[in-house]
Amino acid sequence: MHNSTLTILGSINADHLIQVSHFPQPGETLSGRNYQVVYGGKGANQAVAAARLGAKVNFIACVGNDDIGREMKKSFAQEGMNTAAISEVTQARTGIAMIQVADSGENSIVISAGANAYLNADRVQSFAHIIEQSDALLMQLETPLDGVLCAAKLAKQAGKQVVLNPAPAQPLPDELLGQLTMITPNETEAEILTGVKVVDYQSAVQSAQVFHQKGVEMVLITLGAKGVFVSHQNQQEIVQGFVVQATDTTAAGDTFNGALMTALLEGKSLNQAIHFAQAAAAISVTRLGAQTSIPTRQETLDFLA
Ligand code: ATP
Repeated sequence: MHNSTLTILGSINADHLIQVSHFPQPGETLSGRNYQVVYGGKGANQAVAAARLGAKVNFIACVGNDDIGREMKKSFAQEGMNTAAISEVTQARTGIAMIQVADSGENSIVISAGANAYLNADRVQSFAHIIEQSDALLMQLETPLDGVLCAAKLAKQAGKQVVLNPAPAQPLPDELLGQLTMITPNETEAEILTGVKVVDYQSAVQSAQVFHQKGVEMVLITLGAKGVFVSHQNQQEIVQGFVVQATDTTAAGDTFNGALMTALLEGKSLNQAIHFAQAAAAISVTRLGAQTSIPTRQETLDFLA
């Protein structure tokens, strides 16, 4: 099982971060502090997590024909993933997020999908061989839905595991849910997709039931510091997470998803994989940033030792 391959399909963004005393009013000009460009995008974060944690990763994504896109693609290759399916599109710039972080700790974010909007069904179809030859497919919702659906169908028809982290939250067609082996929403995403507000064990069971009725085999609802609710066959339980001093929860969900798939592809049981993924995610919340906060395999094993 150790040579299993994970294909991740998703977004790449350059995050432009700036700290501000307060959010500027219309017409106001404000001096910010500590401007930084950090690598982000849910697809890229999950791919980096899986690669650092030991998975063999193919990453299907799009960047623009620009320096930051090429730099990120190069860094993903240095992380050890196969970047042959990262297209450089000429029609748009690499995706970005403009993130203002106020002294209150609140964020204000504007996203430009840019090249990510070009990861449509036609492009995904051209990478069918990669999806069909992998053991599992992991996706999110920062790239066009027709591409996500196309990839899900290709993987399912080839008998592979199809996993969706449905973020950012949005309603989804039943046709897509019907292709999924596993879904990993947080509480907000679970509510938007099932209409059940997840506040406790009982409501989590009800929300998961809606996913099961639509054909999803395994449901993992992440509950932040409270851990993960799992619903699979006869198992319905909340698995506690690790207690850590949280500094910045950015990419906790992405680290969890990348780590979970890494462990499952190594042949670990669902519970063992959740244990490993919660450890990796807990480490990530103790550190600042998205990809900068994702731990390596050794760090995660040391944390668990
Ligand atoms: P984000 O959007 O911030 O990346 P998310 O909303 O997708 O995250 P969460 O449910 O917040 O996902 O977190 C995913 C997992 O990360 C949790 O199930 C848990 O294991 C771990 N985690 C998150 N926050 C904490 C915390 N404060 N302490 C310990 N573990 C945490």
